[in-house]
Amino acid sequence: MTTSTSDDAAARRVRVRFAPSPTGDLHVGGLRSALFTWLFARKHDGDFILRIEDTDRRRYKEESVESITGALRWIGLDWDEGPEVGGSRGPYFQSERLPLYQEHARMLVESGHAYECFCSPERLEALRAEQVARKEPPGYDRLCRDLTEEERAVKRAEGITPVIRFKVPLDGTTVVRDELRGEISYDNRLLEDAVLLKSDGFPTYHLGVVVDDHLMEVSHVMRGEEWIPSFPLHVLIYEAFGWDLPLFYHLPVILSPEGGKLSKRHGAASALQYKQEGYLPEALRNYLVLQGWSYDDREEFFPTLDELVEKFSMERVSPSPSKYNFDKVLWFNQQYINHIIELDDLTRRTLPWLQEAGLVGEVAEGTPEYARVRDAVGLIKDKMRLLGEAPELLSFFFADADEYAPELLIPKKTEPAQIATALTRVRDIVAEAGVEDEEALEARLRSLGDELGLKAGQLFMPIRVAVSGRTVSPGLFGTLRVLGRERALERLDAAIGKLGAATTA
Ligand code: GLU
Repeated sequence: MTTSTSDDAAARRVRVRFAPSPTGDLHVGGLRSALFTWLFARKHDGDFILRIEDTDRRRYKEESVESITGALRWIGLDWDEGPEVGGSRGPYFQSERLPLYQEHARMLVESGHAYECFCSPERLEALRAEQVARKEPPGYDRLCRDLTEEERAVKRAEGITPVIRFKVPLDGTTVVRDELRGEISYDNRLLEDAVLLKSDGFPTYHLGVVVDDHLMEVSHVMRGEEWIPSFPLHVLIYEAFGWDLPLFYHLPVILSPEGGKLSKRHGAASALQYKQEGYLPEALRNYLVLQGWSYDDREEFFPTLDELVEKFSMERVSPSPSKYNFDKVLWFNQQYINHIIELDDLTRRTLPWLQEAGLVGEVAEGTPEYARVRDAVGLIKDKMRLLGEAPELLSFFFADADEYAPELLIPKKTEPAQIATALTRVRDIVAEAGVEDEEALEARLRSLGDELGLKAGQLFMPIRVAVSGRTVSPGLFGTLRVLGRERALERLDAAIGKLGAATTA
């Protein structure tokens, strides 16, 4: 029987890693795991390593390295060792470490823990088909496990390059310890002689991960729970090398809202897609940190990483899966936009969206134009859920009012001529009083309504439509103030013109 408990690991310097495979964009589950691992490193003044596991050349996508590092940076995570920053235990791309894996695979063959396997892909395929037909669990039948040196020499002379497989114990139990779940026992008879080194000289994940975690002196392995099935094999490999084990934490999976695998199909599963839609990194981060962790049952807003570092602990990570809730992520974003981040900060983040939409040009802070954008953002922020909604919410401030049908100017139970008269009076009041003093303007317009026998809504709606082209806009007097006197007058004039055309038609 083998056990994986390692008391030493707890006392070692904390060194943890995030080890993504560059096979596509980083999805939210991976980002959550990176976040927990990073928080743990920072909490314990340890090192956070980024290692790129790029040994699966068929699934490798070059551009994904950049999109992974971009997503990590966007959410606020930095790394002490890894791509771009280097470090003393590099290289940090597995594809640049091949001689190390080859040497270690050799060591295992020499010590009798691994063997060369010459079986062709065709044989393995046929074997698999037979096993499936017999309803047996598929797996390698260990044909090459006990070849003699002569038999191996013959195969080599035939020009076959072998793979290297691990010799799993044929009976007994392997007991492993997951820090979140406790001990898990595996019947060795159910384990496979997994390939460690492929015939092209690349390691499989199993060899790469164990060798690198050891050589990089990783003290705590944090990774998704989908790796639990590989866990006993990894422990056996550590033991075959005679290495101390790190502590293992298999982080709970994030399921789709229906309880299945969270995939691209669910939209926005890729972290950077959130950025493109106008999520704030702290809002997504806040949602993600709660997928598997909680501080207490009350507090749910953790706007800064400093606060999270202070409050986070692995003891409060639960092994139970969570279900991804798209509405809740959006809700968090809305809370951040509406209540949590400062108006200047929100303005700075909104500006690129307005520029992209062609609504404003370069706007330097401290200028009147900046103040106007800031005021406009202040007016609509309670309606904004995503930064990406800003251009639509704000367009009428910076471009023309929306096109609208003249009928929108005429509330129920009013006549076009009556509204034309009212808007002309409004125009004169605005011309005289200006728009800066919201309260004074409101008081004047309310008494105008009384004088003309119009209810507040009957007077305010046509003004709103006139200046924005919309029946729904932010507060009318704030809108007028931010639009400015000149624009407001122009739009009121245009509306009066439309009504004139409508009444004479
Ligand atoms: N390269 C693996 C993945 O992307 C990492 C697993 C691990 O962290 O050990 O899922």
